[in-house]
Amino acid sequence: MRQRIVIIEDEADIVEMIRYNFRKAGFEVDSFGRGREGLEALRRNPPDLLLLDIMLPDEDGLSICRQLRAEDRLKELPVVFLTARGEEIDRIVGLEIGADDYVVKPFSPRELVARVKAILRRQARGAEKGEVVEIRGLRLDARTQDVSVRGSAVELSTLEFKLLHFLASRPRQIFSRERLLDEVWGRDCSVTPRTVDVHIRRLREKIEARPEEPEYIGTVRGAGYRMLADAPEDV
Ligand code: CA
Repeated sequence: MRQRIVIIEDEADIVEMIRYNFRKAGFEVDSFGRGREGLEALRRNPPDLLLLDIMLPDEDGLSICRQLRAEDRLKELPVVFLTARGEEIDRIVGLEIGADDYVVKPFSPRELVARVKAILRRQARGAEKGEVVEIRGLRLDARTQDVSVRGSAVELSTLEFKLLHFLASRPRQIFSRERLLDEVWGRDCSVTPRTVDVHIRRLREKIEARPEEPEYIGTVRGAGYRMLADAPEDV
């Protein structure tokens, strides 16, 4: 089934550009020029993702997003903001309104399509969680975020859990710092690849018996990190 996006935006040329590029990429696209009619349409038929302008003729995009987050059927709907420069970005980043991403006008439609696909992939993977991941005595339960090492509970922050769960669900696969930032942190201007190193170090201190000789999270020099698997060549 084709995925459907809704765009709420009052600038016709932007709507046209998005419509063209997303259709070409295989999406269904519905557009609305006003906030309130867009919101009503979302309630009637929730799409897979929403592209949301901020300055709309009737209702501010930020206020629309806040309303979505308060509604059971729409609170999980991924939202990508289309912003002008400056103050609007500060408002998105500053307010905890649950945006999944934003792009600044003028933006590359190809990049926007790629970002939307990445968000939808992440969401599909999130839907699979509920699984328990277990590797040599390390046990993660995504439903409860409980982690234990050989039966002893370990306290992790949500971010640490996400990072560990991402690696543990894909044993032996090597991930660069940039890829981990993308997958675990999502897009956030304030984090650098060094942030990944800091979090890996903290994780090791919490889960490894000897952090300097990790048996779970391995460093692959010049490439990144991976979860070491059971295979002898890895241990
Ligand atoms: Ca506008």
